[in-house]
Amino acid sequence: MTRVAKTKAIHYVVAMLIWLLPLNIVAQVFTSAEVPDSIWNRMQGHSYPEGCTIARNQLRYLRLSYCDFEGNEHIGQMVCNQLISDDLLYIFRKLYEARYPIASIRLIDDYDANDSLSMAANNTSSFCYRMVHGSQTLSKHSRGMAVDVNPLYNPCVYVRSGKVLPTEGKPYAYQRTTRKDIPGKIDTTDLCYRLFTQRGFRWGGTWRSLKDYQHFEK
Ligand SMILES: [Zn+2]
Repeated sequence: MTRVAKTKAIHYVVAMLIWLLPLNIVAQVFTSAEVPDSIWNRMQGHSYPEGCTIARNQLRYLRLSYCDFEGNEHIGQMVCNQLISDDLLYIFRKLYEARYPIASIRLIDDYDANDSLSMAANNTSSFCYRMVHGSQTLSKHSRGMAVDVNPLYNPCVYVRSGKVLPTEGKPYAYQRTTRKDIPGKIDTTDLCYRLFTQRGFRWGGTWRSLKDYQHFEK
C-alpha cells in the first residue's frame, strides 16, 4: 500500500468512527414533567375520558430509558400520579442500570386505552381511568397510583375460576413458583419486586383471590 493510499485508508476509518460514534452513545433519559399539551390531547377520550375525576396537575409525564428483552435500548413514555413520579424515576433508573428487560413502555392511548390490548402487547403502563376488571370499583390506575410491568409474562390470574388476563398470558400463568422458563417473571426474589416494595408499593402477586403478578400500587 502506498503512503497516499495508507493515509486515505486512515482518513476513511476515522470518518467511519466519527459517523458511528453517536449511534453508540444512547443518552439515558429519566425525566418527569407536567403533562404537555401534545400528550394531554392524545389522552382525551382515551385514558382520560369525559368525567375523569383526577386533575391534570395531579399527573406527571415521564420519559424513561429501558432495555428490551433483546438488549436494545429505548425511551418509553408513561403518565402517572405526581405522588409516585419520583419513585418511578428511581425504580426505572435502577432497572435500566441492571439492564432488567422490559418489553415496551408506551402510553396506553396507543392501544385506545384498551387494557386488554396493552397487556397482550406486553406493554408496561400506569395511568388509565378505568374500573377494576369485572367490577364497578375504580382501579388504582385511575389515579395513576399503579404500574403494570411486562403484563403478558406476568398476567392477572383469578384463583377460583382460573381466568387469565390477558388471555394471551395463559402460557405464563400457572405453576409460577417452580417454573424457570418464564421471561421477566416477577416473584419475591425479582429486582422489580424488590425496588417497588422498597419504595412502599404493594404487589398484586401476594393477593388471595386474584394473583395480579404485573401490578404494583401505592
Ligand atoms: Zn394493574
